[in-house]
Amino acid sequence: MNTTPQLIDKFNRKVTYLRLSVTDRCDFRCVYCMSENMQFLPRAQLLTLEEIEVLVQAFVELGVSKVRITGGEPLVRNNVLQLFQGLGKLENLKELVLTTNGSQLEKMAVPLYEAGVKRINISLDSLQPERFQKITRVGKLDNVLRGIDAVLPLGFKRIKLNAVIMKHRNEDEIIDLVNFAIARRIDISFIEEMPLGIISEHARAEAYYSSDEIRRDLEEVFTLIPTTETTGGPARYYQIANTGSRVGFISPHSHNFCEACNRVRVTPEGRLLLCLGQEHSVDLRRVLRAHPLDTAPLKQAIIDAMAIKPKGHDFNLERQPQILRYMNMTGG
Ligand code: SAM
Ligand code: SF4
Repeated sequence: MNTTPQLIDKFNRKVTYLRLSVTDRCDFRCVYCMSENMQFLPRAQLLTLEEIEVLVQAFVELGVSKVRITGGEPLVRNNVLQLFQGLGKLENLKELVLTTNGSQLEKMAVPLYEAGVKRINISLDSLQPERFQKITRVGKLDNVLRGIDAVLPLGFKRIKLNAVIMKHRNEDEIIDLVNFAIARRIDISFIEEMPLGIISEHARAEAYYSSDEIRRDLEEVFTLIPTTETTGGPARYYQIANTGSRVGFISPHSHNFCEACNRVRVTPEGRLLLCLGQEHSVDLRRVLRAHPLDTAPLKQAIIDAMAIKPKGHDFNLERQPQILRYMNMTGG
């Protein structure tokens, strides 16, 4: 009999995957993710690295087997390597993975690999330096490309690019981005922009470019073979014929992925979010700080939270965002 506790919500979905935003700060200001003048959290409100480790351990003891460290830009948090090294040693944590904008990877790739990070997702929306800078407002494409070069030889189980495609901004680079991935035998996912937070640079509905349009563009050049493989995420994957690469589509608008949801998120200040597209949350920092020496109340709070995990998001590009928190807070 399996006696490991499990996190199961009221729709009978098993939660095995935690996405943890370790900072809301970032060295980029991507136009779809942040407003130009973001107010970041005072540092005192963030969970400390030690608190994050206790929190992750609690989730792992409750049956979570995969943890993604994200942000903001996780690699700009002070001493974050120490956290990776601690988490890499957790027994029963099968997969420690990372989402990054790649800007710090040139210097951090080796220590991350040595700490036990198994897979890395790197965001890359353009291969044109000027356009890259326009989308990220401040980012330097060269840094990211050097970061990608640094991870390639290291033996990570999987390296994947993430690209948010926006009409009239970068939809003409879909083929180039896929060719870039193919040349490096890595995977790539295309993400539909989600209405998280109020942004000024563009109207989200006007910039919407659906996964079906992207797939249609790709199928003019490549043969895509559907795979049954799932990585426990919302992406649908296709093998690109005669290459070592797969392409995935994350389509919150056109193909809702809520039924199979296996994940929860924690914000940098320790708020447990039960759904990317809803506000249901639980303040785990309060529980952690009220019981610093006993993780039982923390675990109970996580178990109790399963009762309020909503059935799904209801993103709608035509109205003002209902979700005012930005992706960098959310653990995207
Ligand atoms: N800074 C890291 C990065 O950019 O990879 C990690 C955090 S970032 C919030 C995680 C992912 O969310 C990135 O791939 C980014 O492109 C995506 N993202 C941010 N805002 C988004 C939005 N409004 N809709 C869809 N994807 C978004
Ligand atoms: Fe920073 Fe990532 Fe948001 Fe871009 S998508 S602003 S890199 S957190």
